[in-house]
Amino acid sequence: MDNEYFSKDEELEEESGSFFKLSFVRISLALMLIVSLIYISGPREYLFFQKTPLYTTFTSLKTPVEKEEVSIPVSVFILREGSFKSSRTDEEINHVLENGFRVFRLANITFEKKNIFDLYVNSENFLSNHSQFLKQIDDDKKQKINIFLTGHLDGKNGVAFTGLNSLAVADYITSRDYRVLAHEIGHILGLGHSNHPSSVMYQGSYGTKLSVTEIATVRKNAKELKGLNLEKINLDDK
Ligand SMILES: [Zn+2]
Repeated sequence: MDNEYFSKDEELEEESGSFFKLSFVRISLALMLIVSLIYISGPREYLFFQKTPLYTTFTSLKTPVEKEEVSIPVSVFILREGSFKSSRTDEEINHVLENGFRVFRLANITFEKKNIFDLYVNSENFLSNHSQFLKQIDDDKKQKINIFLTGHLDGKNGVAFTGLNSLAVADYITSRDYRVLAHEIGHILGLGHSNHPSSVMYQGSYGTKLSVTEIATVRKNAKELKGLNLEKINLDDK
């Protein structure tokens, strides 16, 4: 008798065991569905804005400029605090800078990295009042062009504050970060947008070229970088 009961109990246990297994599968599927719905309906940053893979690189074209090389000293600041916080690694920082700067070899312009700082300051006004934001940083840390690396930029890939000689590139973007960096440097050096998708100044392409006219403009402005007009502030798009 005891054995019989015992075996029945065992059967019952097995049944309830498979019942729980089935429920577990259902619950898991339901959770996966909920998670994917949140994912799809969530901010588009999570779907289309991505970090630039390290295997993507830019090979510079031979410069048609026979004249002297123009070297611009730059400072690089990585926002490490607040809502614009960047998660870039040292490798990613070097990758964006080296590839982005290489675009300007075409104009025989190079960039001298004077400093790379991790920045722990209040960045709430980074986009809304950039000149005020810049006041938090000691003047002796700033250079002719100041490059800020941020996590995001309110849906923009990059921003150029042309009158302030400051620019920003986001971690999560819809292009290549080094192309965005070169595009924003182009704005700082006086370029507007181009209608040619192969141009670095075209909006929303992966173009990295500079026209002969653009080369002349950036070279002229690179040389005049000391005479700044601090009044003009432009916010950029993509
Ligand atoms: Zn632009």
